[in-house]
Amino acid sequence: SILIMIRGLRKVYPMGRQQAVQALAGVDLDIPAGSFTVVMGPSGSGKSTLLHLIGGLDRPTAGSIQVNGQRLETLDENQLAEYRRKMVGFIFQAFNLVSSMTALENVAFPLRFSGVPPARRRQIALNLLRQVGLENRAHHRPTELSGGQQQRVAIARALVHQPRIILADEPTGNLDTASGYSIMQLLSELHRAGHTIIVVTHDTRMHRFATHLVYLLDGRVVTREDYEAAANFA
Ligand code: ADP
Ligand code: ADP
Repeated sequence: SILIMIRGLRKVYPMGRQQAVQALAGVDLDIPAGSFTVVMGPSGSGKSTLLHLIGGLDRPTAGSIQVNGQRLETLDENQLAEYRRKMVGFIFQAFNLVSSMTALENVAFPLRFSGVPPARRRQIALNLLRQVGLENRAHHRPTELSGGQQQRVAIARALVHQPRIILADEPTGNLDTASGYSIMQLLSELHRAGHTIIVVTHDTRMHRFATHLVYLLDGRVVTREDYEAAANFA
């Protein structure tokens, strides 16, 4: 079944006196529940914008995103915040951890705002760190962890509300070859556990884990043939 239905999605960034930038120029896309979708495209093709709109971090200029039957454009700010909290977990290239907090505190942090008592928060965070193989680094701060370990902490944090959807924007972009690959394997495990995964990446090793590939050029979804033809001219 289709979990995310995208129709006529457009995003225009106003640029003051300069000409506005059209980041998405009318995207239609269906994301099946339980799929592992890899989004490819050159820099500036709209990949991050697409991920942000699906994650409810920003609003489209036009068009619609329906997630599990709910139209995001009809949600007010509070409802959109609740959607972000409950339905999606975000993973970024730069990890985005709080440097003054330990791994455990970083993972537990989002639970502060959901009425979960402190002891339970710690327990949940520790279980998630165990799940990503970092139980023995719970009390380390980000600067005391390798890049791959920091990304594992970020993934544990993204899982804290048990989201159906995991959105990852170049999750291996700051990592060396080996730790990048282990992060892909971790995403693949989450996929097998039932999460719907959408990853933006230039790393073609991710393709072996994907159930669906989406190609973006100039803010539009194109076929693989058109994408490769364009790449050959680049
Ligand atoms: P960035 O994404 O920051 O531009 P990269 O090193 O990933 O840096 O890419 C350098 C250039 O090569 C970019 O202009 C990007 O468009 C292109 N590129 C890299 N990988 C791919 C890919 N898999 N498909 C299409 N274009 C790519
Ligand atoms: P990608 O992730 O494929 O590199 P983006 O979605 O980041 O593409 O960007 C698509 C286009 O929109 C680019 O031309 C980019 O410069 C522009 N853009 C992205 N974010 C903003 C923003 N906040 N304000 C203005 N322009 C933006």
